[in-house]
Amino acid sequence: MRSSNKYAGRLMFVLALGAMLVLSACGRSTAGTIVEDKVNVVTTFYPIYEFASEIGGEDANVINLLPTGVEPHDWTPRGQDIVNTSKAQLFFYNGAGLEGWVPDFLKGLDSETKVKAVEISKGVDLITTTEDDGHDHGGAAEDEHNHEGEEHAEEEHAEEAADAKHIDPHTWVSPKSALTMAGNIRDSLIEADPAHKAGYEERYETLIGKLKQLDEDFTAKLAAVPNKEIVVSHQAFGYLARDYGLDQHAIMGLSPDAEPRAQDMLNLAKLVKEENIRYIFFEELVSDKLAKTLAGEAGVETLVLNPVEGLTKEQAEKGDDYFSLMQKNLQNLLLALQ
Ligand SMILES: [Zn+2]
Repeated sequence: MRSSNKYAGRLMFVLALGAMLVLSACGRSTAGTIVEDKVNVVTTFYPIYEFASEIGGEDANVINLLPTGVEPHDWTPRGQDIVNTSKAQLFFYNGAGLEGWVPDFLKGLDSETKVKAVEISKGVDLITTTEDDGHDHGGAAEDEHNHEGEEHAEEEHAEEAADAKHIDPHTWVSPKSALTMAGNIRDSLIEADPAHKAGYEERYETLIGKLKQLDEDFTAKLAAVPNKEIVVSHQAFGYLARDYGLDQHAIMGLSPDAEPRAQDMLNLAKLVKEENIRYIFFEELVSDKLAKTLAGEAGVETLVLNPVEGLTKEQAEKGDDYFSLMQKNLQNLLLALQ
């Protein structure tokens, strides 16, 4: 009897361990749970999670929806995310078109919910792009699989897509817009929990001190480089380029899943040669295949430029954050543009 109990116990342990491994393999191990005596804040993705955690401090319980190692453009929430968000006091999303699923998600929340949804990029001077370099979005690329008889409609659709205006959602990639976003987070926390106003104010001041330092570093150091043209895989650096005097050329569109046309790749390779561009930038959460192909075609090297849309598992373990990744971005920009 005894040995069979022991065996059963060990079996349970192995099964539990297996379940834990499966959970962490799905990247769900970081998802938090609602805490009763704090302000519960649900955030959609990493930079907002970091800023909300810093300003919220001990007074807030911040839960991030997007798992570690996942990029946000294609992600959509699950049932458990709706349950958690319904019980929270605040729901912070970027807006500016990043999370297309938000309107349906909010409609799906429990009818009793008191959660307040806040668009954190509100007040940032948004960039509208026509994607005039001809980069298609995922939707347009899917049309290639249409039947032959629909060819005409497909052409019309492609023309419409080329003229369509898109809002660039990547506000947080510029420390200048991150300052505005931090202000929105502070205001919302104070409104939801006025009793802890002093704490929110104090931690907000610490955070914006760091953001202002980062802004000064980017401004001073990038003003001094002789070259201003950057070639990136995913069109995520529009705000950074605008705020610090750079010119962004992207292989892919605002969402990193679209395949570029061969002609676009040739034009970019030509630009790289003409402008004496020495590095093509890629990012870690998305395949570097196209950046490597273009770099090979043009005979140049690749470097990381991180849109800080999320951390890789390694970065999370190392304790990387918005500031360490942005400092690394600045170093790589200086290396490429000297
Ligand atoms: Zn992006």
